[in-house]
Amino acid sequence: MESDLEFSNIVSVLKLVEATTQRTVMAKALSSLLAKTPPQVIDKVIYFLLGSLRPDWEGVELGLAERLTLRAISMATGLPIRQVEELYKKLGDAGEVAKRAAEIKRSKGGGGTIFDFIDTGPKRRLTISKVYDTLMAIAKASGEGAQDTKVKLLSSLLTDAEPDEAKYITRFVIGRLRLGVADMTILDALSDAFDVNRDLLEKAYHVYPDLGKIAKTLAEGGEEAVKAIKVTPGVPIQPMLAERLSSPKEILNKLGGVAICEFKYDGERMQIHKLKDGTVKIFSRRMEDITNQYPDVAEYAREAIDAEEFIVEGEGVAIDPDTGEFKPFQELMHRKRKHNIKEAIEEYPINLYLFDVMYVNGQDLTDLPLPDRKKVLFSIIKPHEHVHHADWIITDDADSLEKFFLDAISSGCEGVMCKSVKLGSVYEMGARGWLWIKYKRDYKSELSDTMDLVVVGAFWGRGKRAGTYGALLLAAYDPDSDQFYTVCKVGSGFTDEDLKKLPQMLEPYKIPHRHPRVVSKMEPDIWFTPGLVLEITGAEITMSPLHTCCSVMLKGDVGLAIRFPRFTGRYRTDKRPEDATTVKEIFEMYSNQKKVKLTDQVP
Ligand code: ATP
Repeated sequence: MESDLEFSNIVSVLKLVEATTQRTVMAKALSSLLAKTPPQVIDKVIYFLLGSLRPDWEGVELGLAERLTLRAISMATGLPIRQVEELYKKLGDAGEVAKRAAEIKRSKGGGGTIFDFIDTGPKRRLTISKVYDTLMAIAKASGEGAQDTKVKLLSSLLTDAEPDEAKYITRFVIGRLRLGVADMTILDALSDAFDVNRDLLEKAYHVYPDLGKIAKTLAEGGEEAVKAIKVTPGVPIQPMLAERLSSPKEILNKLGGVAICEFKYDGERMQIHKLKDGTVKIFSRRMEDITNQYPDVAEYAREAIDAEEFIVEGEGVAIDPDTGEFKPFQELMHRKRKHNIKEAIEEYPINLYLFDVMYVNGQDLTDLPLPDRKKVLFSIIKPHEHVHHADWIITDDADSLEKFFLDAISSGCEGVMCKSVKLGSVYEMGARGWLWIKYKRDYKSELSDTMDLVVVGAFWGRGKRAGTYGALLLAAYDPDSDQFYTVCKVGSGFTDEDLKKLPQMLEPYKIPHRHPRVVSKMEPDIWFTPGLVLEITGAEITMSPLHTCCSVMLKGDVGLAIRFPRFTGRYRTDKRPEDATTVKEIFEMYSNQKKVKLTDQVP
């Protein structure tokens, strides 16, 4: 048993995490669990806690529909399928059904009684390896008869499971573990459990976002082994992010007087990898493998980039085939529907605008300054109808920057990205820093920018909105404390269609109490695990005693809130909750807004 861990240990932690509203309790439970986990299985424990068999970018899916899990529950417990389906109707959660069915089986003497336990002894107790390996076998079953194999494998696992174990295994299978245990939470727990510097782990995570691998490397090889984790084609790296400012002068000042400025295209960010064996993979901003949606772009990259192995980055933009003009971001949504990719490729062609290179033929370029990376990038792009370098200038003049910005806007772009060219202008993985600064059109409208906020609660609607949500409680992210702070209650901007689908979209995130990573003074009618990210605009940012956002910075009992918040209609499914606008950004927007007001008053 020493090289394995009884699954019940994980279940105890899951129960605790599910019940608590305190982040410290959750963090302590996770770190104690990891501290006592044998190195051989620490990766499996972490994948289970995160609710995913492998890191998301590997795209491993169990492929077992909820209906089939009910069949497995019926097989494992001997309850007739009709009874299991009735339980499902009543309880509405396959996990609870699995638990209830196992309890019924136990009450009928069908296993799990005290005698059973003595009979078969500890042999029958599930371990994490048994659970994980079986789930992996379920994911791998393919071809004819795969569904039956999957159901049988699951039912064999559930047969050996205690009621609570059955509940969490089933939730995992249907993708509803959703405990709000995020990558950052695990990094904290690892750093605490192994008493290692968190920055070291975070750095490795930026280079190789696979917490199972990082944990195992740490547990088996110590800090040195973690430091040796390298950029690897085929494994996405955490994208570099930009800060924002609202005037060319400020931007040039911040960047040391001169900058490379590029169009900020309104499409989908693509990190494109070519491996030695010729495979091309495309990863999204949140590092999901989106190659299947863009086989055309993968082919263009293969044709247009002259290197055996590479990692480059660019924006894929939908183009009007008749005019060659850019189409808005929403057009790319047609690519998300899995079935008619071929048609979508014809109807919605895409151009790729490259703006960075991070790796070429065995060499990690992320530590090179931007001008050096650009040289490499220009040297490997061959002329191609659909692949170009992003439109760019290098300038030290605010008027030229403003003119370039207006050009970008009139070409249908969102604005410009201004990038540092100084010696230290490395590719900063996973960081939102001042080496890249975005300057967008909507900076000049009401609020200085839209914000991407996380839904953490909802209030029932009345009148016309009876039966659906009247408003949502939204929060910003604080990476330092790994918590979400509320910043507004938003009820406007939702279409009838939005209102109809929101309860459905949010159903999987529903929890009975405030999530331990949410800091809120408000008490909504429904709480959610932070998951869904929405784009919000508003009139201004004001102080508010009702919200908790930035209350730490304001050092008082007041926080910051968005006045007249409105949903822009954009669901940011390309962002994880941890990619939402941060409290620090909101504080900066608030401070800038104050500055603008003061200068407005100068005669
Ligand atoms: P936003 O919410 O403004 O779209 P974001 O939060 O997704 O931005 P940011 O770092 O704020 O990410 O802005 C950078 C985004 O702009 C990138 O993710 C990328 O998709 C897009 N982009 C378009 N053109 C460029 C460019 N030339 N250089 C870098 N990023 C670009």
